[in-house]
Amino acid sequence: MPAVVRVALPVPLARLFDYLPPAGGVAVGSRVLVPFGRKKMVGVVVAAGVEASVAGTRLRSVLRTLDEGPLLDGELMHTLAWAADYWLAAPGEAYANALPLALREPRPLPEAAELLYALTAAGQSARDAGSRRGASRALLDILAAAPRDAGQLDLALSGWRAAARRLQETGLIERHAGAADIATAMPAPVLGAEQAAAVAAVAGAFGRFQPFLLDGVTGSGKTEVYLALIAQALAAGRQSLLLVPEIGLAPQTVRRLRERLGVPVEVIHSNLAEGERARAWLRARSGEARVVLGTRSAVFTPLPQAGLIVVDEEHDGAYKQQEGFRYHARDLALVRGRALGVPVLLGSATPSLETLANVLAGRYQASHLRARPAAAHPPQVQIIDMRAQRLDHGLSPALLAAVADTVGRGEQALVFKNRRGYAPVLLCHACGWHAECPRCERPLTLHARRRVLVCHHCDRHAAVPPACPSCGAADLKPQGQGTERLEEALAAHFPDVPVLRIDRETTRRRDAFEQLLGGLGDGQPAILVGTQMLAKGHDLPNLTLVAIVGVDEGLFSVDFRAGERLAQLVVQVAGRAGRARKPGRVLLQTHHPDHPLLRGLLAHGYAAAARGLLAERRQAMLPPYSHQALLRVEAHQHAAVDAFLAEAHAALPANPALRVAGPMPAPMPLRAGRHRGQLLLEADVRGPLHAVLRPWQRALADLPSARRVRWSLDVDPIDLY
Ligand code: ADP
Ligand code: ZN
Ligand code: ZN
Repeated sequence: MPAVVRVALPVPLARLFDYLPPAGGVAVGSRVLVPFGRKKMVGVVVAAGVEASVAGTRLRSVLRTLDEGPLLDGELMHTLAWAADYWLAAPGEAYANALPLALREPRPLPEAAELLYALTAAGQSARDAGSRRGASRALLDILAAAPRDAGQLDLALSGWRAAARRLQETGLIERHAGAADIATAMPAPVLGAEQAAAVAAVAGAFGRFQPFLLDGVTGSGKTEVYLALIAQALAAGRQSLLLVPEIGLAPQTVRRLRERLGVPVEVIHSNLAEGERARAWLRARSGEARVVLGTRSAVFTPLPQAGLIVVDEEHDGAYKQQEGFRYHARDLALVRGRALGVPVLLGSATPSLETLANVLAGRYQASHLRARPAAAHPPQVQIIDMRAQRLDHGLSPALLAAVADTVGRGEQALVFKNRRGYAPVLLCHACGWHAECPRCERPLTLHARRRVLVCHHCDRHAAVPPACPSCGAADLKPQGQGTERLEEALAAHFPDVPVLRIDRETTRRRDAFEQLLGGLGDGQPAILVGTQMLAKGHDLPNLTLVAIVGVDEGLFSVDFRAGERLAQLVVQVAGRAGRARKPGRVLLQTHHPDHPLLRGLLAHGYAAAARGLLAERRQAMLPPYSHQALLRVEAHQHAAVDAFLAEAHAALPANPALRVAGPMPAPMPLRAGRHRGQLLLEADVRGPLHAVLRPWQRALADLPSARRVRWSLDVDPIDLY
């Protein structure tokens, strides 16, 4: 057998591919161009000088080496191999997640230097002549002061990219390499005793792996702890990685990091232009980037001089990728921390039960921030019993009175409802017909302003019928409330106060969220209505009332995580009230005022509620006290799903350590026209479960019935849908 190189290719197959090496060999971690079928593909060399696993005659040769040396260092190669194995991914998909798109193409590496936008001479004259309007004018003004990088422009001017393109085409601005001026560092506040203790604990672990939990309510000063630690890592010449769950959170945090640390902050997330993302990634790889902030996929950033990894809002489900390579960025951050020998700090006001269990087991060290440095009082929380109340579009008189009080004092109120659209159901009062998605068999949501019915499961759009399609009556009534309906009701009640709706519909554009909220910073009275997007980000000092309308869906869900999610959501949303000197108030409107979870949460807080939920999980032997893997299957033919699941079940080895639930229909048995079923595997310890999964996965791929279905395996699923 000849010596070959083993290559990970971006194909959804759980295997590697052997090729004959190029003359002169090639290093592990480099990219190569190889023939694959009739195509050419870029892959990453994961092993070199190994013996071929197939007969030599079938081997093809590497066409070209794309990198002189390894692009991915040993630590990343090792971590990626581990991650692909743990989450049962196709290795090539793991590498594809780790490499920015621009580096997955057969081209030389792009220039890593930051590109600055600057005025040309023509641009200077155009500005002097005042010949431009709107965003172009604003951009010329900004660049006249100093050249700026994309990150600075993101913060300075929304919609600058389109203006930059226009001005670049007409030669008024240009891009050149260079480093942007960073404002001199702002002084840090004196840390409180709890903050200082948390910083000392984590800093004491610099240079070795140790996980930490920083547990503190919103506004308790967690970000200040991150900043102090990142500053210490910087001073020691080390890189820091800060993960946040959503880009929406990024701009404010970037500004704070830049102003405080006085160094560039690289931002890495999937909405960046590909060139920018690749350049930021390369600067992290060269060690030039000292502070990297990013969302889920930034967990793959190379960190040759790593000092610290921080995962903010560690409980957030956005850290789990839900398709393809189903990794969990928080868990992967811990794996990297171990490999890099650095502390990993997980922060949250509502830690996940997994993390709390790790604290209880002594694996993670916890610090608590109990005091809110800037706030006078903790918010006062109160339940509104909705039973036997006259509701106005779902709003109780007590809630409306509280909103009236708040805006009357010149303050801001937030009305939270986790449902977009006008109403979740459109019902015929004459015959009981309701508008339903034929592909999901679930009610269609009415979006009144757009005059359309939308399926929130498959995004199918349908016209609003003028009359009942079943009996012809014209009496079609929206049932229930979404944010759009609450916005309308509140605007009618409070005609003199601006009502702002914040949900996926009103914030489609990347910067719209910041823009909408940014206008509120100066603190005039206003009412915000929105979904869980409102639970995070942007500090609104004049927001003193949070009214939570309807959390009842979460109280009786079949998903065993529903209680944990509900508690987290309530606490996160409530945390928006009273962040500044003014006292905050939280109202929770429910039909189930005596539900033990709500009662416990309000009386004793999140930590106590979480302890109760953990005890229930232990009793029921559910995660984190057991480990799960979920086989999901879907197909247009119901019979195909059943056949595959039966064969998959039969292919499981008899193993007393393994509990199997199913085959059974998925919680949503039909979605986008596909029938869905599943099989859940569970074990008390991880070892036996993982020992079964790899060979089972290979067996599943070879099942004859596999060709008629789509299937996937999810290790540590965070929901069962
Ligand atoms: P969190 O990240 O927990 O939500 P932050 O770190 O954003 O909390 O702090 C909330 C507010 O309190 C911010 O405005 C912050 O500047 C301020 N703050 C935090 N720590 C201190 C401190 N030690 N002294 C003064 N102000 C502080
Ligand atoms: Zn009807
Ligand atoms: Zn649908």
